[in-house]
Amino acid sequence: MAENDYPASWYAATRDESRSRAPLTAQDEADVAIVGAGFAGLHTARLLARQGKRVVVLERRRIGWGASGRNGGFVGPGYAQRSGALIDRLGLDHTRKLYAQSQRGVAIVREALGELGRPDILMGSGKLSVSRTDQGAGFADRTRTLADQLGATFEPWPTARVHEVLDSKRYHQAIHDPTSFHIHPLNLALALAADIERHGSRIYEDTAALELAREDSGWRLRTPGGNVKALHVVLAGNADLGAVQPRLARAVLPVATYVAVTDKLGSRLGEAIRWTGAISDTRRAGDYYRVVDGDRLLWGGRITTDTNEPSRLREMMRGDILSVYPQLGDIRIAYAWPGIMGYAPHKMPQVGEIEPSLWVCSAFGGHGLAQTAAGADAVATGILGDPTRWRLFAPFGTGWAGGPAGRVATQLAYWGLQMRDWWDEKRQAQNAETLRT
Ligand SMILES: Cc1cc2nc3c(=O)[nH]c(=O)nc-3n(C[C@H](O)[C@H](O)[C@H](O)COP(=O)(O)OP(=O)(O)OC[C@H]3O[C@@H](n4cnc5c(N)ncnc54)[C@H](O)[C@@H]3O)c2cc1C
Repeated sequence: MAENDYPASWYAATRDESRSRAPLTAQDEADVAIVGAGFAGLHTARLLARQGKRVVVLERRRIGWGASGRNGGFVGPGYAQRSGALIDRLGLDHTRKLYAQSQRGVAIVREALGELGRPDILMGSGKLSVSRTDQGAGFADRTRTLADQLGATFEPWPTARVHEVLDSKRYHQAIHDPTSFHIHPLNLALALAADIERHGSRIYEDTAALELAREDSGWRLRTPGGNVKALHVVLAGNADLGAVQPRLARAVLPVATYVAVTDKLGSRLGEAIRWTGAISDTRRAGDYYRVVDGDRLLWGGRITTDTNEPSRLREMMRGDILSVYPQLGDIRIAYAWPGIMGYAPHKMPQVGEIEPSLWVCSAFGGHGLAQTAAGADAVATGILGDPTRWRLFAPFGTGWAGGPAGRVATQLAYWGLQMRDWWDEKRQAQNAETLRT
């Protein structure tokens, strides 16, 4: 496999035909130059191109090569940081506005599917966030209060209702969000790219942005074979930005997570999972999964700051699936692949103007499919002259993520959280056992 080929994933195996784009080999000019053709860069480019701006997108590898082409495919509101923590830090009014911006992101993705004439990219609707511990009698009231505070439409489901659709002893109550949906992310990236070009803008693949310098009233971006002059630059490189802006690159911590897709499982999958929407569990680094292609299970999970692919990835993912649905029995993993999420220390995206006409739209962590559209909308409206949306993100800076020491600290924190989740489940199981005897 050449370095810039798509990794072997179920998405790559089922992607639309798409020509590769030539690298930049000369000088180009634009109103806006964007670094990165993941969802953050693509949504920003498309929103601006549709408003008549001339946009150039530079992509080091291929369109959707990064997290955007290999994720779980869940599109839903909220952020990587929990809403409760945002309320504590920013107050209710600000948090409600941020949540509304994430809902705008969901709407942008949904509308894009219609505008692109690609309803087939939508693969299912609704999302269940299931708890692996009993949340007690106050769960329903707490969930409704939070939904009310945020202006959200999610609702509590009791355990019995969860068991009607998910045949797993692991699960208790759930939060059901009817506004979420799930998609084929790589095909969305490719469709967005085609639409950007239809609006007269350009995308160069195999083109890393290496250096950024101020020039006249704008910027010059240098690449290996050429350069781009632009009035505005948007950095949308996630955890992979590199030397073009070392300060920002240091502010985003790369965290790996994994996805696997099983062989076709036949009717036993539909007996275990009678739900066509998305499912995740509410542990700090929980499982996320959905049924695809009729009877395959697409399963995501685990996080680690070690970005090398584990040698026993397939066995690990198979074990995770069977620990929740042992009745699936003898399953074979047909595809398994890693992906890198970019996290800022505050777990919120970096969105906004960091110097005059230099913009960032990055660090969406594990919540990026709607949120990149929300960030892109905030940046695009900012470039068009309205700062209100990107200023919602201003309390979250672009500070250092700690380099290698930051990785170690994050890994230790993750293991600590995993231990806490394990301990919560074990303690509840022991209590239930004591009550029975
Ligand atoms: C396995 C996995 C599962 C996930 N599941 C979900 C999910 O179900 N729902 C959800 O909401 N989120 C999910 N996420 C998170 C979501 O995928 C990301 O937050 C989102 O895709 C980030 O988009 P992005 O455009 O910021 O980054 P990316 O998609 O990583 O794109 C950045 C692009 O910039 C390019 N680039 C970087 N630097 C340069 C440079 N100097 N010059 C040129 N190009 C450059 C890179 O090559 C890359 O293509 C998941 C992530 C992973 C990894």
